[in-house]
Amino acid sequence: MEISIEFFPPKTTDGLDRLEKIRQQYNAQLNPAFYSVTYGAGGSTQAGTLQTVRMIHGAGDVVAPHLSCVGNTRALVAELLSHYKELGIKKMVALRGDLPSGMGQYGEFHHANELVEYIRSQTQDWFHIEVAAYPESHPQAKSPEKDIDFFVQKVRVGANSAITQYFFNCDAYFRFVDEVSRRGVDVPIVAGIMPITSSAQLLRFSDACGAEVPRWVRLRLQSFGDDTLSIKAFGEEVVTNLCEKLIASGVPGLHFYSLNQAEPTLRITKNLKLTKS
Ligand code: FAD
Repeated sequence: MEISIEFFPPKTTDGLDRLEKIRQQYNAQLNPAFYSVTYGAGGSTQAGTLQTVRMIHGAGDVVAPHLSCVGNTRALVAELLSHYKELGIKKMVALRGDLPSGMGQYGEFHHANELVEYIRSQTQDWFHIEVAAYPESHPQAKSPEKDIDFFVQKVRVGANSAITQYFFNCDAYFRFVDEVSRRGVDVPIVAGIMPITSSAQLLRFSDACGAEVPRWVRLRLQSFGDDTLSIKAFGEEVVTNLCEKLIASGVPGLHFYSLNQAEPTLRITKNLKLTKS
């Protein structure tokens, strides 16, 4: 079972230096299979994503840049692909992205399947392509069935594996994997894991991205008020239990949405006896 860690690109050089120390902490304790670096839709973090990818790759670790296609032209995507190829990057996370409100048109790509096809047409089998999966359905899905069909389509046009949106209900994940498999598709579907370190922020973010926080978790978190120590202790227990169930069921990997922090993920992976000490 592989562990991978997601970072977002820091906005400042200080932030980049801090992230480098965090990466070193991860390497020392966990030795993840790869790091991934997010990419703001419409190219809004392009320079930061490239800089962060170069830093991680330069240090000798496997890194998978995210590439979200809305608002981007084919020419720009082709440029990024050849840049990554020249650097020797072999893995990438291909996404549609969400246009920030008020920011223009979708442009030349409308859905992630078009990006996957384009990457394959430009670079054949060079990249291992990961795509996004939504065990609780994407917020704009026409129906859960259609959402799974579109996911399957992304695999049929060339994705090698997938990372899910985070979830706290593992039945949704198990069912999603079963339904994909029933459609004859058998790629690894790695579980996206969000460590719980805050209450209001998690609840707001989960509402926006369509991840359900179970009522009992929501109520407990709210009952702690500003007591961040209790929130973190409770969150650690909930997410450790979730990971234990996933590992027991044979999940192919856990992808941690680290939010550029080391401690919450390292505490969970230590509980799971996945760290070195
Ligand atoms: P798609 O697969 O295109 O799906 C989007 C919606 O369209 C779904 O409702 C689906 O049912 C529907 N659909 C799919 N294909 C078709 C089709 N051919 N015709 C009609 N409808 C279709 N966002 C960023 O901006 N940057 C990031 O770095 C980033 N990283 C992420 C990493 C992971 C692991 C995950 C799970 C999400 C990430 N996101 C990121 C968020 C993601 O961009 C959004 O969730 C976005 O709304 C959907 O992206 P997608 O690639 O899943 O899109």
